[in-house]
Order: sequence, then structure tokens, then C-alpha cells
Amino acid sequence: MKSNSTFFGLPKQRLEKKFSDAKPVLTASEASIEANRCLYCYDAPCTKACPTEIDIPSFIKKIATNNLFGSAETILSANALGCSCGKVCSVEVLCVGACVLNKLNKTPIQIGQLQYFATNNFVLNTDYHGRKIFTIKKLSEKKVALIGAGPASMSCAFFLAINGVKPVVFEKSNLPGGLNTSGVAPYKLQSDDALNEINWIINHGVELQTGVEIGKNITFEKLQKEYDAVFVGVGLGRDMTLNIHENCHSSVFGATELIKNIKITNNFKLPENINDVIVIGGGNTAIDIARELAILGVKDVKIIYRKTEQKMKGFAHELSGARKYGVKLVDNLKPTEIVRNEKQKLKLKTVSTVNNDVCEFLCDWMVMAIGQEKDVSQLIPKLDVDDTGCLIVDTLTQRTNLQDIYAGGDCVNGGKEVVNAAADGKKAAFAMLKSWGLN
Ligand code: SF4
Repeated sequence: MKSNSTFFGLPKQRLEKKFSDAKPVLTASEASIEANRCLYCYDAPCTKACPTEIDIPSFIKKIATNNLFGSAETILSANALGCSCGKVCSVEVLCVGACVLNKLNKTPIQIGQLQYFATNNFVLNTDYHGRKIFTIKKLSEKKVALIGAGPASMSCAFFLAINGVKPVVFEKSNLPGGLNTSGVAPYKLQSDDALNEINWIINHGVELQTGVEIGKNITFEKLQKEYDAVFVGVGLGRDMTLNIHENCHSSVFGATELIKNIKITNNFKLPENINDVIVIGGGNTAIDIARELAILGVKDVKIIYRKTEQKMKGFAHELSGARKYGVKLVDNLKPTEIVRNEKQKLKLKTVSTVNNDVCEFLCDWMVMAIGQEKDVSQLIPKLDVDDTGCLIVDTLTQRTNLQDIYAGGDCVNGGKEVVNAAADGKKAAFAMLKSWGLN
């Protein structure tokens, strides 16, 4: 469902609009046929595979009986971001991968597609925002500050708000939504839909303050003093780089920076003379940006990865999707140097991790997709972090080492799925409510 939304100052001229939806919403008859294939398993493995534990057979049954309101309620009461998760979840390795029909050699139920079908009107269509699925409890005296407006914080804020706690979300940029708005591949979810979902969450009583940076515009200590609890959902920092590209900076990009430009930078365009791009990395971000560049018309897109294909962190189904657009993978190569040749092309020097052979590639651009910095310890030095820089929390409550300070999402798990962030936020919200006797 597209809206004409320009809220939050989302630029109108976005390159992401060139992408078509890889999984368009099902029609009512398609959804009905798919829902009626479900076996409504008693001990549903699909639900067990969902980090937010959505009662999947129940919401599918409600679609089959044409009760979309009830179906949306089942989904959204377990996952406030259930609508976007229907689009962006890697269902192949979660609910759909666990569906019993796989074992019966039948096509598994397209759970993500059904989830999106059931929720999209209620969440994304502003005309439907008037149809209240949730009754908001009477406001208590408790209030919570949430740092960052990504999926973890917005999920936490939603469950606090409907249970009578005032959430105030502080976001340093002018657009909320975190990676859902600026980082998810545009053939899965576009930024206006991500913001429509945020708008739906906000309408339940969440206060959002954008352009507020912790440590600059407001201190963490002030939040600690003025709020009953603080939730840290700051995600990850800047793209990491290999630092092997002296004098080539103008043609070497960070993957999340480039995806962000494609999604939300006004009038961002790829220069016409960009024909060959090399992406370095082996995760889903590397695969996403490679596929996006191929769709945008870059003729030769290669992913270079230092280990074997089987060891890639990126999912096999995502790589296979990228290959359909011509993306090539060259594995077992370690980049050693990037220089600019006399024709102004970049030359990437690599060495084989199998036999030490040296191999060189020419390209116009290079994209680094080798991870993002973790900078929470600089932001809030008092919080305990592990040796990778991720915040340490109690896994049952998402509580950190500090009293009444909770955390979730990528700054805790190092970079997982939107649904993992949504699950963390929900868990933290209910842990807070329990500690105050409000649930
Ligand atoms: Fe339906 Fe598959 Fe889940 Fe069983 S495992 S309830 S068939 S979606």
C-alpha cells in the first residue's frame, strides 16, 4: 500500500522508487487459497521459529475465515512491526523454513506474504489508522526514554504505550525507522511504507523527538534522572573499511551509506559511466547492495569474498536472488590493495586464500560491505560490552548492567534481522512493565 506521505520530510526524488516490489501484496483470492493450504498444526514449528512468537496458525486461520481484523490483531499483538516483517523477514530461514510442509515435499506456506496481506491496510494505509485494533490502557505515572528510533526502540515504545506507559523516543536523524527506513533493500520495503508503519506506532501514544543526539543535545545522565527507565536501541555505527585504498576515496563507498543514498537521499543518482562495481563482503548487506546496483543497470557487479561460498554469512536464497540479476561471486580472495590506474579505473589486488595466487580486477566503484562499527561504548561508557563491542544484556529481560537501563537490536546482537530487534524491544517493554507491577 503506497501513500503520498511526505511526513518526517522524506525526500520525494528517491532512487528507490525505480525498484519494483519483489513480493507484491497477495490478492484476496490468492491469500484465501494459500491460507486454506495450512494444516493449522497444533505444535506449530513455524511459531517456534519466529523470534516474536506470532501465533501463525491462528492468524492464517483468521485469513481463511475472512477475519482480517482478527488476523492483524493476532500478528500485531505479538510483533508491532509485523507488517514490515512480513516483507523483510528472511522467512526462508525462519517460519517458512520450519513449515511442516517442507518435510512432506510440498511447497511451504508463504507465511510472510500472508502476514503482510493481513496487516498492510491497518498499518500502512493512513485511512485505516482510524480503525483501532488496540485499546490503550490508562496512563500510569511511568515514562521511558528510548534512544534511537529503529525497530527495537519502536517495538518497545509500542508495547509500553498500549500498556499505559509514556514512551519518548529520541532520534538523532530527522527520519525515524532505523534500517527499515534507510537500510532495507528497496525491492523488499521502501522508506515511505517504513514511515507509515512508524506513524501507526506513534499514533498509539508514542512521543518522537527527531534531531536529538545523546551526548550532544541531551545527556544520558539527564535521561536516567528524568525517566523511570531508558532503552538503548542505537543500532550500529559507520561502515567499516579495509583502509587499503589511499587516493581512491571518491570511488570507494560503504555499503550501508550507499544503500541509504539510494533509499532516502533526494535526487541521488548513479553516474552514467559506472559499468563495473566490486562489492567486498559476504553478508546479506553485500548481497543486497550488489543486487540493487545490478537492478539499477550496472553491467558487471561482482562480490569478492575471502572464504568459500558455503561460509558466507549471507543467506543462500539471497545470493541466488542476486545471481538472477547477473551478480557474480568470486570467493576465496583476500583484497590487499586498491589503486587507481592511468585510465582512472580502480585496480583491486587480491591474493587467493587457497594457493596465494595474486589476482587483479578493474572496476569503476568499490563498495565495502564488511560490517559496521559498534560505538555504544563511546556513547554510554558505563554500559558493559563484550569483546566485539556489543552491549551485554540479560537475555530474559534485555536489562543491561545498569539499573533500569535496557537495550536491544543490532547494538546488542551485532546486526541481525528486523524481527530480532522487534523481539528484543517487546521483551524489554514487558520486563519493565513487570518490574513496575503493570502487567
Ligand atoms: Fe501452517 Fe506450516 Fe505453520 Fe503448520 S507449520 S501451522 S502448515 S504454516
